[in-house]
Amino acid sequence: MPSIKDSHNELIGTRHLAQLPEGGKRAYQIMHANPPLIQDLKTVAKRFEKAVNSADSVTIATGFPVRGTFETDGPIGAFILGNFLLQQGFSVNITSESELLEAMTQFPWDRSVFSCISFTPTSHLKNISEFFISIERPGQNSQKICHNMRGDDISSMIYNIEDRLEEKPPKYWLAIGDGGNELGLGTLKERIQEVIPFGKKCNCPCDGGIAVERRSSDYVLGMTSNLTALMLTLELAIRFHVKWVYTWETEKELLRILNSHNIIDGVTGQLNSVDGFKPSLTKEIIRHMQTLYND
Ligand SMILES: [Zn+2]
Repeated sequence: MPSIKDSHNELIGTRHLAQLPEGGKRAYQIMHANPPLIQDLKTVAKRFEKAVNSADSVTIATGFPVRGTFETDGPIGAFILGNFLLQQGFSVNITSESELLEAMTQFPWDRSVFSCISFTPTSHLKNISEFFISIERPGQNSQKICHNMRGDDISSMIYNIEDRLEEKPPKYWLAIGDGGNELGLGTLKERIQEVIPFGKKCNCPCDGGIAVERRSSDYVLGMTSNLTALMLTLELAIRFHVKWVYTWETEKELLRILNSHNIIDGVTGQLNSVDGFKPSLTKEIIRHMQTLYND
């Protein structure tokens, strides 16, 4: 089991920094803004476990629009964390825009258990459960505008979930992201404004920058949102006292399903990858994360 510092460094990609595409270094840059910040994944996992154990069900929201479709970062993380919770007996509801949701219904969810998995287009979502997870979902800035990493307004491409969060805030909300424009990362706003391009000043008329306003109960920031969800799930497996493994074969299968629904790499626009990471690098990171926890 890694120390807090080791898991923090693995999350933000310290060991892989030279090989990471530019976008993959953002978590590292945000954490190294002054004063440096170390994420305590163990404490997050502990609070997560306590909150989920007293919840009736879990809602997981994901989906980042890109080039007229959605990107591969987010849905894989939602599967990893969602399927783990399913296997631990929780009922899980996945929500995103229907184009992406359709692809996610095809994922190899564990349907052998008594708990159930359900899928709701975000526009049809009546209730956000008291336990809420957002993974790589655009978040509004201070002007209620959502942006991509280039600072463009993308608000019209997703359903506004934040009015719902405002009306009835969840008891516990975990946000996962990698760049600073993701829903729930408001706690990191000043750091994001300082080190992330367009953080303070965007490319759209709102003039508010891409750093998001709303704060979740807990957040975890990492190289990609998918890998961040993986790391957290490894930590949760320890807390739930279960042996849990995620393989490169599963990652490839999930990517194949997403690509067949035209869900693409958000950075390159290509197939077979996430956020411009070389597949061989993602494979190595997945292997290494598990070595940290399972050896
Ligand atoms: Zn703007």
